[in-house]
Amino acid sequence: MVARVVRAVVVALCVIALSVIPTPARADERVVIPNACTAAHPYDAASSLTDLKSGIETNWGFQLSGKYWTDETYRPLVAVIWRTLDAISCTPYLDTLHAKVGTLELSATSIGGWVAGDYGLTKADAVSLDFPQLLTNYQTDPGHVSRLFVHEMTHAYTRDRSSNPQYWADFTALFAKNGRFGTYGYSASEVFSEVVGYYVARCAANNPYTVSEAAYYNFAKNEVFGGKEFGPALGAPLACGTSTAAPDAYQSANAAVQAAVADREAAAEEIAMNGAAVYGYESLSASGTSDSA
Ligand SMILES: [Zn+2]
Repeated sequence: MVARVVRAVVVALCVIALSVIPTPARADERVVIPNACTAAHPYDAASSLTDLKSGIETNWGFQLSGKYWTDETYRPLVAVIWRTLDAISCTPYLDTLHAKVGTLELSATSIGGWVAGDYGLTKADAVSLDFPQLLTNYQTDPGHVSRLFVHEMTHAYTRDRSSNPQYWADFTALFAKNGRFGTYGYSASEVFSEVVGYYVARCAANNPYTVSEAAYYNFAKNEVFGGKEFGPALGAPLACGTSTAAPDAYQSANAAVQAAVADREAAAEEIAMNGAAVYGYESLSASGTSDSA
């Protein structure tokens, strides 16, 4: 137990150190999804966050809660989530999701500890996203925001797995043969969320999709996304370079990171006081994600 607490605090301090290293102006610059669907609703940087919030609700069938959606500090995250939803909107994913869960609530919150997001744990039947933590992750890995968002949303997608529908039977057969995907998650549910999250967020750091993961790739392509791909063929170079710059957004985001450092210090103390057992260790790395139901 002591070792686990020490490990948590050491990782906490590493994340604090990482978050105060100056990073180049890159907010809203990096390509997260290289080959999105032709935009049905292109992200408009001139839109107010109030309009973006209501747009996410009306365009793609979600209910948004939490004060961070309309806080300019977090505009880079709202932009990534907008673009991610637009990117997958030409596939069957969202219709399938809504057929299972209806209107899904997306709660922009601060979860505490090191969990960046979850489905149904912080708030019943909702995807909760820790915006302060995700904004810190965004500085070095904007694709992580997209990957984590899709990962958690996909936990809602698989909430029917106990009845073993066809896609789940197919996936668990694949999982029995191929095992883990990358370094996060041991259960079929977690691996499914990773397989789908990285399939969309092709430019996320440490993406495990190489030619050796063709089985999972083809599963996501054919059984989840209706044949649509979000990048070139496996093994081909990804175009994850820069596009348009948004220095104002970066300055705003960076200020929020500085504020988040204080939260991190408080969280590290909380971990030390409460013991490690209540926190999910796989959520600790900057490229990790939370554990979830
Ligand atoms: Zn998960």
